[in-house]
Amino acid sequence: MSAELLSPRLETLVQDTRALLERAVREHKDVVYSNSLGAEAMVLTDIIATHVPEIEMFTLDTGRLPDETLALLDRIERRYQRRIQVFYPDAAALERYVRENGINGFYLGIEERQSCCHIRKVEPFKRAIAGRKAWVTGVRREQSAERALGESISWDERYGLWKISPLLEWTEEDVWAYIKTHNLPYNALHDKGYPSIGCAPCTRAVEPGADPRSGRWWWENPDSRECGLQPRRRVIPLKVEPRRAAGQ
Ligand code: SF4
Repeated sequence: MSAELLSPRLETLVQDTRALLERAVREHKDVVYSNSLGAEAMVLTDIIATHVPEIEMFTLDTGRLPDETLALLDRIERRYQRRIQVFYPDAAALERYVRENGINGFYLGIEERQSCCHIRKVEPFKRAIAGRKAWVTGVRREQSAERALGESISWDERYGLWKISPLLEWTEEDVWAYIKTHNLPYNALHDKGYPSIGCAPCTRAVEPGADPRSGRWWWENPDSRECGLQPRRRVIPLKVEPRRAAGQ
């Protein structure tokens, strides 16, 4: 579908996103996109596949993803005619974890939950970015107080490479306007009250208007609700006004 249908704000956001990704490739060459298969990922997948194909894409299959997420991965690969590399948990580590904690051990406590996320997400993620120069993530400022403080290009101390965050200024409304305008595929669970989708046993639907991430690890204190891929510093919640794109 033609980009002429995008609003001036969205058009500017798309151009900024594309420019940042192209700059990342120019400066770092070896850039990978960690595709979460969430709504934001549909935007980045489309922009990367269409305009910056040099960026490789990978995703993490934790072994506990909803069927809808795997079906989406298949649809994306067919639509863009390119493979998204899938990284899996280390089998021996996972078997040990399940032996010690049970198949749903993540409900036992925060330590067990974070340990599961480490085995199923963090360790495969580290393998996926090993030796790379930069990675792309779809985080947005309005998603959390932590993410509100993000920068579009930052040195990722934790993993030792550059982190590129092209969607920081996008609002949820922008993301869905882009998806609808381009008729992009997206996870069927989004239409069933799941704004943020992770592993099936750790994600549930939320009431309209509720914090989009409140359906993730809902039994835990909100401060601990990250999987460990993104930093989790304690911060004072800030109200951040999104930067207005030109034309607004
Ligand atoms: S989200 Fe749940 S099932 Fe998935 S890795 Fe984390 S604790 Fe394990």
